[in-house]
Amino acid sequence: MAQKEGYHTMRKVNVGLQVVALISSLFLTVYLLALVRNGSVCVPFKTVAARQSDASSNPVPEITTNSVDPVLQPARGAQYALQGYLHRRIQRVIERFFTVVPESSPAILQVLRDRDRTPVRDPLVPWAGEFAGKYLTAAQLTWRLTHDENLKKTIDTFVRDLIACQDPDGYLGPFPKSSRLTGGNWDVWGHYHCMLGLMLYYEDTGFEPALETCKKAADLLCKTFGPGGPTLTCDGSGGEMNMAVCHALVLLYKKTNIPRYLDLAKYIVHEAWNEEGAGHYLEYALAGKPLTEIPRHRWESIHDWQALAELYWLTAEESYKQAFMHLWREGLRGDRHNTGGVTSGEGFQGTPYHDGAIETCCTVAWIALSLDMLRMTGDSRVADEIEWSTLNSALGAIPYSGRVCAYNVPMDGTRTFGVELPWQSPKAGPDLNCCSVNANRALGMIAQWALMQDADGLVLNFYGPGRYQAGLPSENIVVLQQITEYPVNAAVRIEVTTNAAETFSLKLRIPSWSRKTTVRVDGETLPPPCPGSYLNLRRTWKTGDVVEVTFDFTPRFWVGAESHAGRVSVYRGPLLLAYDARYNTLDPDDLPALDYHTATIEPATWHEPIEPWFLATVRDAAGNTYRCRRKYIYGVRLLECGPKR
Ligand SMILES: [Zn+2]
Repeated sequence: MAQKEGYHTMRKVNVGLQVVALISSLFLTVYLLALVRNGSVCVPFKTVAARQSDASSNPVPEITTNSVDPVLQPARGAQYALQGYLHRRIQRVIERFFTVVPESSPAILQVLRDRDRTPVRDPLVPWAGEFAGKYLTAAQLTWRLTHDENLKKTIDTFVRDLIACQDPDGYLGPFPKSSRLTGGNWDVWGHYHCMLGLMLYYEDTGFEPALETCKKAADLLCKTFGPGGPTLTCDGSGGEMNMAVCHALVLLYKKTNIPRYLDLAKYIVHEAWNEEGAGHYLEYALAGKPLTEIPRHRWESIHDWQALAELYWLTAEESYKQAFMHLWREGLRGDRHNTGGVTSGEGFQGTPYHDGAIETCCTVAWIALSLDMLRMTGDSRVADEIEWSTLNSALGAIPYSGRVCAYNVPMDGTRTFGVELPWQSPKAGPDLNCCSVNANRALGMIAQWALMQDADGLVLNFYGPGRYQAGLPSENIVVLQQITEYPVNAAVRIEVTTNAAETFSLKLRIPSWSRKTTVRVDGETLPPPCPGSYLNLRRTWKTGDVVEVTFDFTPRFWVGAESHAGRVSVYRGPLLLAYDARYNTLDPDDLPALDYHTATIEPATWHEPIEPWFLATVRDAAGNTYRCRRKYIYGVRLLECGPKR
C-alpha cells in the first residue's frame, strides 16, 4: 500500500523534540538489543530446557516422547472465563463469524466437494484449500479459550462435514484430479491448515476420525513427495507455502509414532528447503543470515520454521533450536512494527518502517511462532511481544462488529475492513479470504499463553478480568480470579482458590515496559520485581490468598525513523493509542506537533454505541490536546506527531 498524501500527522517544527527523540531512540535500541542478545542484567535468557513429567494440557497427549520438553507449556487442564471488554469482543466474533460462516459461506466446504465438477469454480484462488483449515484452527482455539457451547456445536458439525469431503485416496483440497498437489497451486499448504485444525480438534475431543483424516492426507503426501519425487516448489513461489506442511507432519508423528511422517518432514527440512529457488532456511539461519538474505522470506515461511522447534524438542538436536531462535530474533529485530504487527508487503523487509501492507495473516503466523519461542525459552519478554501483537495489531484487525476483518493493519492505524479481498472469495463464499478465516486465531491463541506451567508450577502471562483455572501434577485445582480493568487500569488483584493447600511456584509476568511494578501478597509488600522477567512467588498457596500487582503505566513513546522520522507512537501500558478524528476538532492531516516529553494521558469518557476499550486525552505543556483511544476501528490514525523535517 503506497504512502498517501497526508498519511502522517506531523506538521510543525519543534527543535527541542528532536533532542528528546534521539534519547528515546537510543533507549529503544538498547531494549531491542537486550532482547536480541539473549540477556539482561535482571533475567538471563534460559537456554536449558527442564524436564517435565507431564507437560500435556490436552485430553489426548502425544504418544511420542520428546527428548527435550519445552520450558513452558499451556497449563494442564486450563480453563478460562474471560470477562469485560475483550470477552465481549470475542463473543461477537463467535456469534457473528464462527457460528454464521458455515451457513453464510457454504463454499468453505463446497469448494472441496465440487473439486471434480465442471466448469471449474471461478474464482478459485491457489490457496482456496486453506479456508476450511484456517477457520477450524481459529474456531477450535477460540473454543479452548471460551468453552462456548454454541461454538462447539458448530465445530462438531463442521469437522464431520470436512472429514466427509476427503477423497478415498486422502486428498482434501479443492482442485480437480488434473492439477492436484503438484499442479501449481498452494495445495499442500491447504492440507497443512486442514491437518492443523483437525489435530487441534482431536487434542480436545479425542475424536479418532479427525486424526484418521490427517493420517490419510499425510499418507497421500508421503506417496506423492519425498526423495526422487516431484518438487514442492510448485506453489508458484519457492515452496514456502507447500513446504510448511513439515510442521504438521512432525506434530502428526508425535500423535501417531508413524515414522514416514517424520521422514517426510525431515526430507523437507534437509532437502526440499535446499532445492534451487527454495528457502534454505536451516542452512541460512545457522549461517546467521538476516531474513532479507534468505532466498524466500515471504511470511508463509514462518509456518515452515515452526517445524524446527518441534524437531528440536523431539530430537534434542541443537542446530534446530539455534536456527529457530535466530529466525525469530531476526524477525523481531527487523520487522516488528509499532503495532506489534510483523512483516511488510507480505514479507520480511529488515526494517519496521517499510510502508508495505502489514497483513493480518503475517501477524497471526508471527504470534504462533512467538508461542513456540516462549515455550522454548521461558523468557517473559517473548510473552510481552505476544501481548503487544495480540492486543494491538491482531485485535486491531477485527472490527467491533466481529463480522469481517482487515487485511492491512498499517502503522498509522487506518484500516478498511472487509473490502480489500473480495477477489479471493469463491462463489457462495463472501466471508472467505485468507485473513478473514485466520484473524480470530490470534484471540483463540490467548488460550495457549495466558496461563502456562513450568517444572515448578504455574506461569501467569495474561492479565485481564476473569477466571483462570489449571490443574497441578498433584491433581489439585488452582483458580486465579483476576479482578481488574487491565489494560485500561494498572492494578490487578488476583484471588487464589485451591481445593487443598499446596506448595508451588506462581510466576507473574512483569512486562519489560513496567519499570516500577509493586506487588503485595496477602498485604505484604515485596521488593520491586525486575521488569522483563517472571516474579517467582513460591509458597504454600491456599484459598483466600491475594496477590495485588500495580504496573507502571507511565506513557511511553516509540520515536520513528527512516520514512517515519518525525513521528512518535504513544503507549500506555500494553496499548498503542490512536488519534481519532471523531473525538477531535483538528484536521487529522494538519495536527500541531506534540511535545511528547511533556505529554500526559488522562482517561476520558465517551457516549456512543461502539465502545472503545480505552479513551484518553493526551496533552502537552504547550496546550496541544488530542483525544485518543486504543485503535480498533476504521478511520483512526496513530498519534504520530513531531517536528517537520
Ligand atoms: Zn491474509
